[in-house]
Amino acid sequence: MQFCSACGKPVALKIPPGDSLMRHVCESCGTIHYQNPRLVVGCLPIWKGEILICKRAIEPAYGKWTLPAGFMENGEDLAAGAIRETREEANAAVRIRHLQSVFSIPHIHQVHVFFLADLIDGTFGSGPESLEVKLVKPADIPWSEIAFGSVRFALERYLGDPDSTCAHIDSFKRP
Ligand SMILES: [Zn+2]
Repeated sequence: MQFCSACGKPVALKIPPGDSLMRHVCESCGTIHYQNPRLVVGCLPIWKGEILICKRAIEPAYGKWTLPAGFMENGEDLAAGAIRETREEANAAVRIRHLQSVFSIPHIHQVHVFFLADLIDGTFGSGPESLEVKLVKPADIPWSEIAFGSVRFALERYLGDPDSTCAHIDSFKRP
């Protein structure tokens, strides 16, 4: 960040009084511009024992397979964001079962959260950010073409125990 989004003047990197970390501080209007991790929310959608996966039509990881997920929006809760992303990316309506996995990725300032969910009527299709959307049997998961560590983690946990509820892992501490 170079300029204050409140007043347009240059910002400086400094530790504000009472804080312990460097922040972008506007020396003109005094606004402190905090930067915090972003939440990515999504679903691990199930239909008759198969898992709904999406082939990415956007970077990063263009052409790799992922679960429907994306950045949470202001004004929605986690589950609402996961349902919305599943509708947008896979044209699928889901009913949330429970929180399934949480994956912290400190070096890119993101936390990825997945819910186990059921497709409501079994219908789905490609949204604008997906090249292809399909149901796969657990044995047919394309492990060598999975887009992200968080997706791999969620899928591995599901295969290990389909009913397992939320586990949290820090990507750096993953074995
Ligand atoms: Zn300012």
